[in-house]
Amino acid sequence: VFDVLVVGGGPAGAAAAIYAARKGIKTGVLAERFGGQVLDTLAIENFVSVQETDGPKFAVALEQHVKQYEVDIMNTQRAVKLVPGKVAEVHTATGAVLKAKTVILSTGARWREINVPGEKEYRNHGVAYCPHCDGPLFKGKRVSVIGGGNSGVEAAIDLAGIVQHVTLIEFGNELRADAVLQRKLHSLPNVKVIMSAQTTEIHGDGKKVTGLSYKDRNTNELHRIDLEGVFVQIGLVPNAEFLKGTVALSKHGEIEIDAKGQTSVPGVFAAGDVTTVPYKQIVIAVGAGATAALSAFDHLIRSGDD
Ligand code: FAD
Repeated sequence: VFDVLVVGGGPAGAAAAIYAARKGIKTGVLAERFGGQVLDTLAIENFVSVQETDGPKFAVALEQHVKQYEVDIMNTQRAVKLVPGKVAEVHTATGAVLKAKTVILSTGARWREINVPGEKEYRNHGVAYCPHCDGPLFKGKRVSVIGGGNSGVEAAIDLAGIVQHVTLIEFGNELRADAVLQRKLHSLPNVKVIMSAQTTEIHGDGKKVTGLSYKDRNTNELHRIDLEGVFVQIGLVPNAEFLKGTVALSKHGEIEIDAKGQTSVPGVFAAGDVTTVPYKQIVIAVGAGATAALSAFDHLIRSGDD
């Protein structure tokens, strides 16, 4: 029986494992893909105190740090079910059942993709998902943002201050973002908004993005825009589907937590992109992982057994 079982091996899970193990308690990490989203990231320039690194390097550093401690790492294993209890059970896709006095859920999230030709081919070569992360790489260039909800409009406002020109492309016939954001967006001289537009393809020269095509949904006409970057902002999907009916989820499917990382189930904590935490970033996930581990330890010492 683990004292703390961490489900998810991204930045949040790694931090949780390190903080738990340093308390000298029996700690395990179950991860489908140790490293998490950073494995899909090129440059990381905003992890405070590390001026510049890349995703795969960062993932190796995470794993090496965890391995400094007595942590049972179970990689390439997917959790499919959580059964809460005084001793909780985590069931894996292969049929194994792991038992733990406390569980920390840190299964992260994935960007919703638009699934058009060119998106996968040019991912990290002009196709981006995170304006906080990759915006500065497009300084002085032309980009588009796909999606007119809050995150799309926020991204367009953010990028307008860095890049030469932003074209915001919305599928519907109106923007879904808050009015105050829309007002700000429309006040910017270097932003153009195109409504009722369905992105059909992202073009490139074999190495990087060179343009984007969209269909005008009113006229069915195809249009092409020349640009260097495409930010896809049609939603972040938390990896919490397997927890439905077990822990309380927000309307966006994120695990609801309080300031200590406590979920709706005693002894079950959560951290990182899978939760309701505002702003999904590595530095934030790492802090949340530490918080969840300290809360799990606190729960263990108060629950009266060893
Ligand atoms: P994740 O990194 O998503 O890790 C989740 C972990 O859980 C993984 O190990 C996964 O395999 C595992 N998992 C999922 N489901 C299950 C399951 N059912 N059972 C077992 N394990 C499971 N942030 C920055 O701060 N700076 C950047 O420059 C930056 N660039 C980015 C670029 C890209 C392309 C992307 C996609 C994201 C970027 N981010 C960046 C965001 C950052 O990667 C995330 O905020 C961070 O990784 C969140 O950490 P996490 O541990 O919560 O989740």
